[in-house]
Amino acid sequence: MPELPETETIARDLEALIGGAQIVGARVMRPDVLREIEPERLGASIAGTRVRCVWRRAKLIVLDLARDEERVSTHLVVQPRFTGALLVDDGTLDAELREYLCVTLRLADGRALHYRDVRRLGTVALMTPARFAEYAGALGLEPLDATSTPEALRAVFGSSVRPIKAALMDQALLAGVGNIYATEACWVAGIDPSRAANSLTPHEWTVLHTALVRLLRDSIAARGTSFRDYRDATGARGGFVSQLRAYGRAGLPCARCGRRLVGTDAIDGRMTVFCPWCQR
Ligand SMILES: [Zn+2]
Repeated sequence: MPELPETETIARDLEALIGGAQIVGARVMRPDVLREIEPERLGASIAGTRVRCVWRRAKLIVLDLARDEERVSTHLVVQPRFTGALLVDDGTLDAELREYLCVTLRLADGRALHYRDVRRLGTVALMTPARFAEYAGALGLEPLDATSTPEALRAVFGSSVRPIKAALMDQALLAGVGNIYATEACWVAGIDPSRAANSLTPHEWTVLHTALVRLLRDSIAARGTSFRDYRDATGARGGFVSQLRAYGRAGLPCARCGRRLVGTDAIDGRMTVFCPWCQR
């Protein structure tokens, strides 16, 4: 599933590609991906709006749509989850990527914005500003916001007895961090991912926070981590995979101590890779 850096990459690309574009209509091929709007009402609800901006919140891609210059009238909120992708089509998109299209928005300049989803576990929702504020208010701390400090992380997780790696992935507490970056952050910080969150010292919170922020920023700079069906807005794959030190590397040597990395699903049911020698 795309995590924060992949979602941020998609949002930035879309902002560059379709920021300011006018929407003239919508076609819904797979109504089951829609949320909070009836399929037959989507087109009428967004036709005539402009894309004011495209941005990310948690693992959501948010299109702010406006009928006039002043005010955002509605938010198109896309949660790609496992196989969802937003693709801008100027007529040259690969035929293979035109399969599994769920929703297509037609733009005034002749291009289209497709929501494609092979497994259709992702969603496309239309929300009023008030509804979106309520929805986004229930999401966790944004790790790259100025309000995300070591102290803030400690305040959010500090009393939890859950394993730190599982706690980092709790979307209600911290937004956008999934298995890849939780696994990597524990490795970089030298912290055993199975340790209870409430056992971390203030110094360890600082080290973990620094590791997490750097990982997320480096990954955004590399356009995210490529895996499974992740594609950015142009259909390409991300480049951070070559920088991974733990995720996907069970049985390979630890880049820090040279001993063998271990994979386990005993921590949270997901595959966690760590170094039992230098993560304490
Ligand atoms: Zn090691």
